[in-house]
Amino acid sequence: MRTTLDPHLIDPSANEPGLVVELRDARRALLFDLGEIDRLAPRVLLRASHAFVTHTHMDHFAGFDHWLMLAMGRVPRLVVWGGPRFVDQLDHKLRAYTWNVVHRYEVPLRIEAHSLEADGSRRHAVFDSRHGFGRSEETADPPHGSDVLVDEALFRVRACIVDHEMPVLAFAIEEKAQLRVAADRVRAMGLGTGPWLANLKAAVLANAPDDTPIELAWRDRDGEHVARRPVGELRALVLDAVAGRRIGYVTDLRFTEPNAEQLSRLLSDVDLLYIEARFLDVERDQAARKNHLTARQAGEWARRLRARRVVPFHFSPRYRGGEDELRAEVFAAWGGAPHASAITSP
Ligand SMILES: [Zn+2]
Ligand SMILES: [Zn+2]
Repeated sequence: MRTTLDPHLIDPSANEPGLVVELRDARRALLFDLGEIDRLAPRVLLRASHAFVTHTHMDHFAGFDHWLMLAMGRVPRLVVWGGPRFVDQLDHKLRAYTWNVVHRYEVPLRIEAHSLEADGSRRHAVFDSRHGFGRSEETADPPHGSDVLVDEALFRVRACIVDHEMPVLAFAIEEKAQLRVAADRVRAMGLGTGPWLANLKAAVLANAPDDTPIELAWRDRDGEHVARRPVGELRALVLDAVAGRRIGYVTDLRFTEPNAEQLSRLLSDVDLLYIEARFLDVERDQAARKNHLTARQAGEWARRLRARRVVPFHFSPRYRGGEDELRAEVFAAWGGAPHASAITSP
């Protein structure tokens, strides 16, 4: 069954960091890191509702301005998540510009900024174009033990903090379980398929009581049909749930045991792991000085996480043209996974 999440690196050569996850059929996208996002088509960027920023080194955050410029006057809401002090840093970025005319835009823009702080607490603030992107609606949540940042009907995003000589967020993007419908049973009941099936699936997933009514509407060669049936009568149309795919996005971190343990909690048995592989392992000392992983270290962690597929990225510019050597080192250390294959391009 095809999945809802369609991830790809923003840089096909995999040198620059950044991942876009398109939500099929929903005309939406999620961005992970805001580096050279001008590589993405404006139509994709305009669908992006959320951005998740690992950390505010320039190669991961300088593209925010591009996203904002494109969205202003066209998109009503952007949600941005980052690590400790991120809300302040976003505020500083917005303060660098003059906003004397944006309050006249026909479509006002509300930027909702969130930070996951080192102690697990969260801070939130809103920057609204109607008020010159001044900071408002500031709130905070104490640490509450959950690592979930965003939880929607189609997906969930979780995060942990890892060390890069500064706190950095690593992300898990998790597709929710999906229900399949038996089209032959729908026909056998004298019904036709239509958007009502989505309402039925939602009711079944939510364990709605049997007498919950579902409005049915479909069209066939005899024309339009409408009907109303209780969930209890329709439940047999829904087959088993298909487990959702889990994707990891891990970049800019040191090869330390505490980092490995953080990732194990977030990403064990991940289906698809995007992981940085900045240097070859012969440059292990250089990688340690720069707070990055070598390709071999990335592969060892992929193995430890039992990742089913691995996509290495964020290679150092010194390997331009030689990226396949880095990929080969990652895959050799990972060793592959049962019923899975390495993919060498994003
Ligand atoms: Zn980086
Ligand atoms: Zn960095």
